[in-house]
Amino acid sequence: MKIDPLKLLRPNIVRLSPYSSARDEYKGKEGVFLDANENPFPGEYNRYPDPYQWEVKNELARIKKVSSEQLLIGNGSDEVIDLIFRAFCVPGKDNVILLPPTYGMYKVSAAINDVEVREVLLDENFQPDTDQILSQCDANTKLLFICSPNNPSGNCIDSNSIRNLLDRFPGVLVVDEAYIDFCPERSCVAQLEHYPNLIVMQTLSKAWGQAGLRMGIMLASAELIAVMNKIKPPYNINSCSQKMAMLVLKQRDEVLQKTKELIAERYLLVKALEQIPCVEKVFPSDANFLLVRMKNAKSVFDELIRNKIIVRDRSSIVRCENALRISVGTPDENKALVQTLKSICSIRM
Ligand SMILES: *Cc1c(COP(=O)(O)O)cnc(C)c1O
Repeated sequence: MKIDPLKLLRPNIVRLSPYSSARDEYKGKEGVFLDANENPFPGEYNRYPDPYQWEVKNELARIKKVSSEQLLIGNGSDEVIDLIFRAFCVPGKDNVILLPPTYGMYKVSAAINDVEVREVLLDENFQPDTDQILSQCDANTKLLFICSPNNPSGNCIDSNSIRNLLDRFPGVLVVDEAYIDFCPERSCVAQLEHYPNLIVMQTLSKAWGQAGLRMGIMLASAELIAVMNKIKPPYNINSCSQKMAMLVLKQRDEVLQKTKELIAERYLLVKALEQIPCVEKVFPSDANFLLVRMKNAKSVFDELIRNKIIVRDRSSIVRCENALRISVGTPDENKALVQTLKSICSIRM
């Protein structure tokens, strides 16, 4: 089934004539710029930033092996998620499919946009039931969010399931690859050329170490990106962030090295956690965090906090009963965690 995502857009978005910024009309770098009511006296930030961030995109395109026109940069993935909702979902009419337990922001963005959510639970191995997903779809189903590696479970979604859904899902499939740099061989980016209804999301917040920079990345067909460019705020990525991103992207070798170190640390942390009596199960992870089932997650969580070690309590979330989500830290941080857990578990439980 070939889906044309442009046919799924909201009618008002198809009709939208976008804000035309001063910088849209003249592409040159040299000139006397009297077009944007900027302050003419030189300063680091007296000019508006490039609304399309071409320098950053050209660098990202090289790294991701796509064209620059297939990229959109958002003020974090949150902005990218919201843009996708606003492009496709008519409030109060359309619906989307989510696969809990998963990243919380999809549901929040749906609620903000007044879009119905249909939930199809992942199975005990945190894999999707494709037939059940398809049975939930109707003429108003616009989006399916797949998070791979999945937050909070840490595992990648089976590539056969993703392929199956790409072949059969009647809307736009959004694959959130926030953690893909920890398992790059599992990326769906190469599928973009076969499936125009695929959107891949990535970010500089995790392996790239730039959560404070707020850079989310959307990869899709050039046609879809052109639509998103109409909707996004014209100057959504400021000059300072664009400059910093250029520096970061040029440090790719160091980032790859640090990523390898984090993965090695994750293996060590799994081994250490499995030795601790109150740990029942460490779920397999392809990311930089671990979902850990405890004998009594709530009291372990509270005791960790008392020792100023902060993890994420996921125990109230479906399929994550009694589980904590723990980010892999530095070797010292992980040692502190393991030592503290050992003493909590031997004394109190
Ligand atoms: C951390 C994370 C992101 C990244 O969000 P940013 O807004 O880019 O920092 C996106 N998706 C998932 C599932 C995440 O866990």
